[in-house]
Amino acid sequence: MSNHAPKRLHKKTERLIKETHTKKMNALQQQQHQLRGGSFSSSKQVRGTSRRASLVTKGVRAAAKNYKLTLLPGDGIGPEIMKVAVDVLHEVGRKHDIGFTFEEKLVGGAAIDAFGTPLPEDTLECCKQSDAVLLAAIGGYKWDTLEANMRPERGLLGLRAGMEVFANLRPAVVLPQLADASSLKKDIVSGTDIMVVRELTGGIYFGEPKGFGTNDKGERIGFNTMVYSESEVDRIAKVAFEIAQKRGGRLCSVEKSNVLEVSQLWKERVIKQHENYKDVELSHMYIDNCAMQVIRDPKQFDTIVTGNIFGDIISDAASMLTGSIGMLPSAAVGSSGPGLYEPVHGSAPDIAGQNKANPLAQVLSAAMLLRYQFGEEAAAKSIEEAVNATLDQGFRTGDIMQEGMKLVGCTEMQEALMKNLSK
Ligand code: NAD
Repeated sequence: MSNHAPKRLHKKTERLIKETHTKKMNALQQQQHQLRGGSFSSSKQVRGTSRRASLVTKGVRAAAKNYKLTLLPGDGIGPEIMKVAVDVLHEVGRKHDIGFTFEEKLVGGAAIDAFGTPLPEDTLECCKQSDAVLLAAIGGYKWDTLEANMRPERGLLGLRAGMEVFANLRPAVVLPQLADASSLKKDIVSGTDIMVVRELTGGIYFGEPKGFGTNDKGERIGFNTMVYSESEVDRIAKVAFEIAQKRGGRLCSVEKSNVLEVSQLWKERVIKQHENYKDVELSHMYIDNCAMQVIRDPKQFDTIVTGNIFGDIISDAASMLTGSIGMLPSAAVGSSGPGLYEPVHGSAPDIAGQNKANPLAQVLSAAMLLRYQFGEEAAAKSIEEAVNATLDQGFRTGDIMQEGMKLVGCTEMQEALMKNLSK
């Protein structure tokens, strides 16, 4: 007994300290958010559809459905483009009778400045408790000289690990208005609409053993292990089949099973999972051929599923077909729980605070969130159609500027977008 008493006291003290710390952080973050002109809401806000009354009393518009989103504006252009996405979500919510409760938290460099860590515990907890997370971007010159585990990027890795998201969704859509921006011929890229589903937490980047050693000849060697378990392949295959069902109904599994045992297992398990998704047409392709085909004839692909390193390469190659990094959304999702939705680009510190950022990748990330997290297809489509209409009207930020178009800043792009959205 006497051994247990101090332990209980210790735990209680720990909890108290933690609670006080969390309260302090909440207060600080709330203060910061209010300073930036946001409307902060209590963390005990509504999830699902049942607590309409509390929404009304807190001054949030009552809607048929309500989703709690954590917003992580991060650094650089992050706050500028996040503002656009939030306004877009408000407007699309008004049109489609969807309510949102937003809670803003710090991550990356902003969190380092405020709390001395790129991922405060309170930020991660809030993300895990929400229905989905919308992230802008992290990083910047200011934090470049910090030691590796204190840098903003650590915040992002910690977030992905803490939220247990293992599937990275990277769409590469060539919009007709921007087909000229691609480095490939217009007739090859026009109409491209690929979704790359990349495994994010396994494979050669994480496999053990890894490290450095010495071979028989006394020469230094470096080595890594490419390993996948059955359950790791099964869960990413399920995500990919379900995405293919929502898209064109075709899934191409990409591996190197002519050489690698790990790929043979990958292929076997994908074929096994296919038994549950007979409405999806499954094909297989070696990674080297896929790299070639994505450039030669990208329109042949609908959804691609692949491992971590192959996906890293193929998703970057596919994204280049589109011609601009400022247009590319992405998501990281798990088997259940909130997903993390974010533009592919970084925090663009070179243009931060100059009203030059293209907010469209952020806005399209919000559309992905609506489609893949909540199944709100009509609302997602509204956003995508408004983006299309805005481009059709000739509005362009610097990164996608073409001859004869109207060069605008982030705020003018937002104004044009909001007009199209409210039509
Ligand atoms: P970057 O994507 O931030 O910028 C590359 C180039 O593209 C820059 O010239 C930038 O001005 C431009 N650009 C990017 N997004 C744009 C947008 N929305 N509108 C207009 N132009 C845009 O990549 P980088 O320069 O290599 O990295 C800058 C910082 O971002 C670094 O600290 C890096 O670590 C970080 N980063 C973060 C993420 C993330 O948060 N997921 C991803 C990549 C890089």
